[in-house]
Amino acid sequence: MSEEISPFYVMEVLERAQEIEASGESVVHFEVGMPDFPTPAVICDAAVRAVREGETRYTHSLGTLELREAIAEDYKTTYGVDVAPDRVVVTLGSSPALFLSMLALLDPGDEVIITDPHYACYPQLIKIAGGVPVTVRVYEEEGYQPDASRLVKAVTKRTKAILINSPANPTGTLLSPESMTEIAGLGITVISDEIYHGLSYGEDSRTILEFTDDAIAVNGFSKLYSMPGWRLGYLIAPRELVRPVQKLQQNLFISPNPFVQRAGVTALREAKKEALGMVGEFDRRRRAMIDGLRELGFTLMAEPRGAFYVFVDASALSTDSHSLAFDILEKAHVAVTPGIDFGQGGEGYLRFSYAASVADIEEGIKRLGEYLNARKSGTQ
Ligand code: PMP
Repeated sequence: MSEEISPFYVMEVLERAQEIEASGESVVHFEVGMPDFPTPAVICDAAVRAVREGETRYTHSLGTLELREAIAEDYKTTYGVDVAPDRVVVTLGSSPALFLSMLALLDPGDEVIITDPHYACYPQLIKIAGGVPVTVRVYEEEGYQPDASRLVKAVTKRTKAILINSPANPTGTLLSPESMTEIAGLGITVISDEIYHGLSYGEDSRTILEFTDDAIAVNGFSKLYSMPGWRLGYLIAPRELVRPVQKLQQNLFISPNPFVQRAGVTALREAKKEALGMVGEFDRRRRAMIDGLRELGFTLMAEPRGAFYVFVDASALSTDSHSLAFDILEKAHVAVTPGIDFGQGGEGYLRFSYAASVADIEEGIKRLGEYLNARKSGTQ
């Protein structure tokens, strides 16, 4: 099994960057996929209070009713969809929510359709659950929207689900409502990774639950509330899937953390304003990153409108994104993620995360400019 699982190259870039830093050099980090803001204080205070009040035992395996109600309320206010709290399962991050969904849905050999490029962990999660990932290419020139006819062709007797992600990692794309309608109309269960919801600029994200009931919406607190290390996420499933997911959760994880769930309630009910402040800052950084990359000569056919990534075609420099990323790291001390991390369709591309300050973005762009000039003049 472990031989079939690919490494997550971004972690290898990060680990090499840390070695360079340990030798006293500075590295600009554009590789990491997590917010750099501290978790809002009101959320931290709620967790500390809960620990002090003795909330340190297992909770209900589905999560506390209070948090499941707060999540249902949030989906109602944000998207206008009615979700009963008994359809919500709280998990230790959105990654376990995705994994539990796969385990509950798949029998060995069942297929799950994903796009290519896609979030690096998707094929691995599917394979660990005994499934087979089936990729459908999406193209920059089509704004990374999946083409309906290509999707239909990918459906077989073994197809159990289609996994979508909007706003997307690594492309920063939002699925258009037309694409979501087409996907919902395929007649297969949709697993919708909504972890970047809220982090969109100029356009609101839509939940799959607005389009179909045959869907599992997966979401969490790592991105919008800047809580990646807290490990808190959830899934909203059709009622008949809740019991299978619950049995898996009981055996694999027992329950989510009690005090972290209290923090989650506070995040949803009291930290929206602070979260929106972070979104405004991400938008400024997005502009700085896009403008900087364009000044360096990179072309972007469609500007990313969500998450905190810019995915750029660097194939004019090298078609081997892995060696290019490591060359940039060694020579320019700028850490970026190779596009191949996100599937064959990402080869030749680099992913720049703008979860970094504007000053860092400017410094990283300056270093990249020097690197590109040195390449051009043959001094490297
Ligand atoms: N889905 C996507 C698309 C992601 O980018 C990430 C984190 N990088 C996750 C899921 C997992 O997030 P978490 O487990 O922290 O909720």
